[in-house]
Amino acid sequence: MPTKQMELSPFSQDTGVLRCPACDIENLHQIQVEAFERNEDAETGTHVLITGDNVHINQEIDGNPSPRRQGLLVRFRCEMCSASIRLKMYQHKGSTIMGMEYENTK
Ligand SMILES: [Zn+2]
Repeated sequence: MPTKQMELSPFSQDTGVLRCPACDIENLHQIQVEAFERNEDAETGTHVLITGDNVHINQEIDGNPSPRRQGLLVRFRCEMCSASIRLKMYQHKGSTIMGMEYENTK
């Protein structure tokens, strides 16, 4: 199933609360955090995956949202729909890019 991108601000303008990119409600629950750290264009780096009380550290940076530098992914569960949601923030060509993507799981 294709991943849908949402590059506009994922926040409600009046409240600053993060919204679900699939159904637009404000009730999202953070379930996982991933951080990717590397020097520019390096083929290896540090990957930290935090799920609940578990912290896993390795050198696998294949899932990094940045093609050349550092990146951050936060996964959410929505109270209303079953979409698989990710907030991503990464550096590219001197800019920091932030957006959301999701897949409908049904
Ligand atoms: Zn939703």
